[in-house]
Formats: sequence, structure tokens, C-alpha cells
Amino acid sequence: MKVLTFARFLRERFGFPVKKLPVHLFLGCPHRENRIGKGGCYYCSNSSFSQLTDYYGLSVENQIKKGIDTYRRKGFEGGFIAYFQTYTNTYCDTEEIRKAVEQALGFEDVVGISVSTRPDCLPDDMLDFFDGIGSKRMFWLEIGLQSAHNKTLELINRGHNFACFEDALLRAGRRENLFLCTHLILGLPGEDRGDMAESIRIVKKLGSHGIKLHHLQIIRGTEFEKWYRKGQISVLDWQEYLELLLYLAPIIGEDLIVHRWVAEAQGELLIAPKWDITKQEFLKYFYERLKSI
Ligand code: SF4
Repeated sequence: MKVLTFARFLRERFGFPVKKLPVHLFLGCPHRENRIGKGGCYYCSNSSFSQLTDYYGLSVENQIKKGIDTYRRKGFEGGFIAYFQTYTNTYCDTEEIRKAVEQALGFEDVVGISVSTRPDCLPDDMLDFFDGIGSKRMFWLEIGLQSAHNKTLELINRGHNFACFEDALLRAGRRENLFLCTHLILGLPGEDRGDMAESIRIVKKLGSHGIKLHHLQIIRGTEFEKWYRKGQISVLDWQEYLELLLYLAPIIGEDLIVHRWVAEAQGELLIAPKWDITKQEFLKYFYERLKSI
């Protein structure tokens, strides 16, 4: 069977390859700061962000310049989507994100923008601004949900419920020029295949254009690390995750643009699962098996 990957979608849209270029605003996350939640999601680690020291103090302009230069040196000739990736990128007023986005759009090679955030940080005036940008260049709004089930959202301490996400997605969806992507984690505690399939069906029905999937990883310093060490939480080995994705792929079909299939955290910060194959090898097996569905 066929699926629509983000890379293919971009190539078909633009006629040339496009890569995402991470940009860090370091705005923090309201949920981690106890303003609206209780100290952050249980799978989230501050230390994963502390690896970004190279970017501290760099303006958006300089981060993008640096990123483009690196790709060009490697011979990449395509375009870029400036990807506001870290923490909650709308945890600011609209003026602040406006300045950041406009700096990014100052680069001819930046053919689009992607902003990642929480559903409880999306005021209407900001959505209107994003929509205006989307009328000129491709604009993706990536909203973290992780699961469409309230029992899971409570268990992982997301700090918002499903209704909050639904409201944000529908408000964003009423704007004509926004592409919407929903982040989901597969393998969260207490969820079976049916629950995960249901989450995908729900976000598809609500009008999300894309999904970004990854398997649950236990990262050093998180609440989930404690649970894992006490044997209260389990993770998927790569064979189990492969079978899970093959089960979910027909539900995803070609209607949802898949931004990511599998997580990438590695090295010192990753407690589990430690797979004995690379992400590229995993994807090769996965695409091979997809052909037979
Ligand atoms: S996963 Fe995102 S929303 Fe949750 S605590 Fe971390 S930065 Fe905040």
C-alpha cells in the first residue's frame, strides 16, 4: 500500500526537495513552568533541549543562515521549511512570533514555516497571523496531542484534555491557509492498538492534514524514567513497533501526510528502548513490508 510521507508531499508541491531547518526560540513551556499544568509531561526532559547550546544567543536569522550554510556545504540544493521546534513556540505574544517568522521569511530559500506548540497556547489573533503568512507561503501548525484519550492524557500529565485540542484544531482549521499536523506518541502506558488506531481516526476526522508519530522513548531525567526503573512502564522493541505501524498504516492511508514514523532520540539521554538497528534501517524494513499490504 501507499502512504504519503512529508518528503513526498513537499517534493510534489514544490517540484524540488525541501528540508526542515530547526529554529529555536527558547520560549520555554507553560506546562513545565507550572503556570497551567503540573511540571511538564512525564515523557519530556529538559535535558533533551539543553543539548542545543550551539544555538543559545543566536538570532533567528543567524540560526537559519547557519543551517542553510551547513546543508549547502553538503551539496543540498533544495529549499527549506523553517521549523520552530523547541518547547512551546507560541508561548509568547503574537508580536514576538511575528518578528521571528518574518526574519525566517527574509530568506529566499525558506519556502515555508512550521510552528510546533501545545493546543492551549493558540489564541485567535495568532492563528490569524499564521493564516496571513499561509496565504503567501506554506504554513504548518504542529499541535501536540499524543493521545486522543483523556485517561491517557491524564496519566502522562499532558496538562490539557482532548476537548482543548479539539477546540484548537477546529479553530485553526477554520483558517483557509493553514496546514495542520498532530503529534501522537505510540505505545503510551495503558493503550492498546485499538486506542492508538482510534486516536488516528479522530484526528483525521477532525481535519488534521498530517500526523507526526513516534514510539514511546524513555528519556533520562523524566518522570517516566522513574516508572520504567520500577517496572511500571514498558517500551516496544523495533519488531513490535514495526508490526504496530503496519497495523496502523491502512488507517492512515494516503489521506494523512506522515511527517515522521519513528522517534530519533539516541545516545546518553535515551534509557529505552535501545534498538539494535538505525532509524534508516527500520524505515527500510517498514517500507519494504508496506509493499505487501
Ligand atoms: S512535551 Fe512539550 S508540552 Fe509537554 S512539557 Fe515538554 S515542552 Fe511542554
